[in-house]
Amino acid sequence: MGNDGGSIAKRQDILSFHKHQAGSQKSSDIVQDDNVIVCSVSSLPLRNEIVVGDYLGRLYIKEKIVEYMLNRNLKSENGADATLPSTLSDILELKLHWQDDKTIVCPVTGGIDLCYLRPCGCVVSYKLLQELHKGDKRNDQSSSKMELSSSTCPNCEIPFTFDYDVVLIDQAEKAADFNKKTYEYLATQLKLHHSKKPIKEKKKKRKQEDDSDGVLKEKKNKKKKKKSS
Ligand SMILES: [Zn+2]
Repeated sequence: MGNDGGSIAKRQDILSFHKHQAGSQKSSDIVQDDNVIVCSVSSLPLRNEIVVGDYLGRLYIKEKIVEYMLNRNLKSENGADATLPSTLSDILELKLHWQDDKTIVCPVTGGIDLCYLRPCGCVVSYKLLQELHKGDKRNDQSSSKMELSSSTCPNCEIPFTFDYDVVLIDQAEKAADFNKKTYEYLATQLKLHHSKKPIKEKKKKRKQEDDSDGVLKEKKNKKKKKKSS
């Protein structure tokens, strides 16, 4: 008796259960919000494009959002939507799984309750992650709290952390709050951008600028010397 692990769903059990379910699901059962499958800056369909996501879970055609960033820098900040990504550190390339060319689904469950993982960019079911998380907790009682919050992606097995690596792809207010909180933690506690590239401190940036000025001056001096010789 006691703590028998027999009834506890293991990671592999959960994954195979969902793979089986996904196979028997009809695509007509699934109705996805139109906003999810179009680019949030150009409104063009995402299908067959390289897709990136921001920290609020909005999806973009990479080419279109990069174009937007470049134009924004040229035109100055006036009139630009401050919530849209402004640098490459604000976006991440995603791996999407399409069904019937018009629905993005989780490659494991076939579900449309989607989120994506910062370390690998896989778009997977959020419910599945929650299930796996619960399973991990029950099966591994000896781990410390921090270790418990980490797992591996159900699609590619790359490790991620529940606390700050999950971005919900859902425009509902609740999801936005969730995404803002995890991003805040990432930025303030870990000093990382959405893309998980380190945030450079302003002092360091100033020094780099000075250095580049120095390089320019040096070049000018060299030119002068050449002319005078
Ligand atoms: Zn992955």
